[in-house]
Amino acid sequence: ELVLGIESSCDDTGVAIVTGDGRILAQSLASQNELHAQWGGVVPKLAQGAHQEAIDGGIVETTLEKAGVRPEQLSAIAITIGPGLSLCLRVGVRKARSLAAAHNLPLVPVHHMEAHTLIARLTAGVENVQFPFLALLVSGGHNLLVLVRGVGEYVQLGSSLDDALGEAYDKTARLLGLDVGGGGGPALEKLAKQGDDKGIPFSVPMIRKGNCDFSYAGLKTAVRLAVEDKVGDDPPSESNMQVRADIAASFQRCAVKHLEHRTKRAVTWARELEPEISCLVVSGGVASNQVVRARLAEVAEQAGLPLICPPPSLCTDNGVMVAWTGVERLRLGLTEAPPTEEQAALEATGEVDVSLKPRWLLGERHPMAVQLGS
Ligand code: ATP
Ligand code: FE
Repeated sequence: ELVLGIESSCDDTGVAIVTGDGRILAQSLASQNELHAQWGGVVPKLAQGAHQEAIDGGIVETTLEKAGVRPEQLSAIAITIGPGLSLCLRVGVRKARSLAAAHNLPLVPVHHMEAHTLIARLTAGVENVQFPFLALLVSGGHNLLVLVRGVGEYVQLGSSLDDALGEAYDKTARLLGLDVGGGGGPALEKLAKQGDDKGIPFSVPMIRKGNCDFSYAGLKTAVRLAVEDKVGDDPPSESNMQVRADIAASFQRCAVKHLEHRTKRAVTWARELEPEISCLVVSGGVASNQVVRARLAEVAEQAGLPLICPPPSLCTDNGVMVAWTGVERLRLGLTEAPPTEEQAALEATGEVDVSLKPRWLLGERHPMAVQLGS
């Protein structure tokens, strides 16, 4: 197999070509961190424009060239159709569909979070990440603990009741006045290295809730109050440097402890359903954080499970994960016929809309998660 993957669900345009045995022939990524840095979050209209610019600039064609692959040699085109921002998803989907129409290639519609999960099978090798396994997915929009029984077979053990951890990192970074041009998470992680992680007594969320759900709203408020109290409106300076680092480190310690607690319980829940889970996968943008990786490595070790964490560049959004999910789905025949060229032309102009799944859940919630949820 030879699959082209296109990702445009949020603020990164990712394109890659991957083989059936998991070789990455080429990949490209157009990131928009700088573009959104000044706005306090991703601005959908701006993101859409940047995706369009990357596509019109030939990011797909360039990637094919880098790989030395002609479109007609492809086995399929994989495309993220959700969850994410409709305006952004549409840009990638239109491109994928017109290319599929032009070369009569099957399409593989991909769930963005499934791609964040299955990429672990490419990076660690399918023999090391066999179904069933447990996955902790932590990104900008999701906190999920899922039992992965197979491609497309997910049982949600827990999810966030409010913010995702990546979002909490981003907001905390902004509150602390950090330069978020390279991403809020990495900036906060860096500052936290210089801080005392017990310097500020934040409490770990949901300690007494016996389920696997997450919540970061309370911690976020506690951080805001600490910043108001200890830093006020003062701009970053030598004199408030230490207290800001302490806030960052203390936030990170509590936030990650919360991940540890929920994941430990999820291992037990998962084993009740599937006694033979093969490993713990930790993926999504926040999984590129060194503290997260180290703490979860310990959880995995205590549970007697190998920890599988993709390399940081494949934890954040990328085209490789979409292409690889395309490979996995193609093998199971989970493809869609391409549109006709006439149809694709109507879609390109917007006369006919393409179908997207901006709010697409990954699997069903476990009955226990429903019962113990709030
Ligand atoms: P989703 O996958 O839920 O749709 P997304 O695609 O926007 O959201 P990702 O690209 O997977 O999210 O991850 C981006 C998030 O990861 C951002 O919130 C970012 O701050 C966070 N992140 C990236 N690197 C780090 C890091 N080193 N430490 C903490 N957080 C990080
Ligand atoms: Fe993502």
